[in-house]
Amino acid sequence: MSTPETVDVVVIGAGQAGLSAAYHLHRRGFVPLGTTDGATAARTFVVLDANGAPGGAWQHRWRSLTMSTVNGIYDLPGMPKPELDPASPSVDVIPPYFAAFEERFGLAVRRPVQVRAVRREDDDPRGRLLVETAAGTDSPGADSPAAVFRARAVVNATGTWTKPFWPAYPGRERFAGRQLHVADYVSADEFRGRRIVVVGAGISAIQLLEEISRVAETVWMTRREPEWVDDDFDTAARVEAIKGVEERVRQGLPPGSVISVTGMHWTPWARAAEARGVLVRQPMFRRIEEHGVVLADGSFLPVDAILWATGFRAALDHLAPLGIRLPGGGIRIDGTRAADEPRVHLIGYGPSASTVGANRAGRAAVMAILADLDAAVPVPQH
Ligand SMILES: Cc1cc2nc3c(=O)[nH]c(=O)nc-3n(C[C@H](O)[C@H](O)[C@H](O)COP(=O)(O)OP(=O)(O)OC[C@H]3O[C@@H](n4cnc5c(N)ncnc54)[C@H](O)[C@@H]3O)c2cc1C
Repeated sequence: MSTPETVDVVVIGAGQAGLSAAYHLHRRGFVPLGTTDGATAARTFVVLDANGAPGGAWQHRWRSLTMSTVNGIYDLPGMPKPELDPASPSVDVIPPYFAAFEERFGLAVRRPVQVRAVRREDDDPRGRLLVETAAGTDSPGADSPAAVFRARAVVNATGTWTKPFWPAYPGRERFAGRQLHVADYVSADEFRGRRIVVVGAGISAIQLLEEISRVAETVWMTRREPEWVDDDFDTAARVEAIKGVEERVRQGLPPGSVISVTGMHWTPWARAAEARGVLVRQPMFRRIEEHGVVLADGSFLPVDAILWATGFRAALDHLAPLGIRLPGGGIRIDGTRAADEPRVHLIGYGPSASTVGANRAGRAAVMAILADLDAAVPVPQH
């Protein structure tokens, strides 16, 4: 392990949230670590990203998630997206936009760098945090050494993509067919002519149900009867939903799924699936067997594959040494700050887990950090 590098702010993650924070640091005169010769007194930051290339989670999305089927991807701050063909897969066009953004603002993202642990250097609450990495280990052939950073503040922007949630069901390990999470989904083609159970009630579940049902026999299962919301999800309803999530994270509860606060909306895929008669919900199976599932009524249904469209959880394992996670897995949040470790900010988390929320949270975190750093600078004595 190399000697710790001292820096003002470490940003973990270079998705929409991390890049927003990096942009606002850059705007306020912070410079990427290693880009000064030490002669300037500028404050420094470093962005560490586990992915081998720019794009955050967008570099991993399935190809049928095009610019016309995404919910809407907000521009990164200070640089609008170029004109994009609505038919183009987001996986093709968003990563180059992120790369151009990093280049334009000279953000010098370090990758692939996986943060393994964030811990306190000592007991001084105004002291430093240590950010420990396993640089290079996630990219074959990369040989950069593991590094440690000593930071005044950490902006955690690690998203959820790396933590797909697989609910526990009896027999899951016995199934001989294909089981996959939406994070592994490539295209409907691999299920052609098969029978597949799609589990889940989120946007991805409905979109993939509609898509796969065109080439395969689908069976849609959800834990609870979905509550369809007829009216448009207008601004007032959105604000209310976000407030609900804000309140949850303020109390330290896990943010919960989007559907739990918004209900199910009639997206174009939901309407298309409904029109084709494939939006027929069944209660969850009781258990999984080697070649199928036992349904709620006790009968056996042979199936070839199970697609778990069961959401994601926040990627926060590396924060464990700080001891700020409550027994339920949540973290108490005040604005963007972890209430129990104010030097850590969580963005793209809870109410800011959207592209627009990530943009705003990046700015808010930087403003709060700036205020802390300014307050910590000793007033000159005359
Ligand atoms: C299928 C799907 C579709 C979506 N569509 C939309 C949409 O249309 N509009 C919208 O607003 N939102 C959408 N969302 C929500 C979306 O994920 C967020 O809005 C946004 O892209 C998340 O940005 P982020 O920066 O928080 O996370 P990410 O884009 O996931 O970036 C996190 C980054 O952190 C890195 N990282 C993770 N752990 C570590 C670690 N330990 N050390 C170092 N780096 C780490 C990752 O490698 C990654 O690069 C969608 C989500 C899903 C799952």
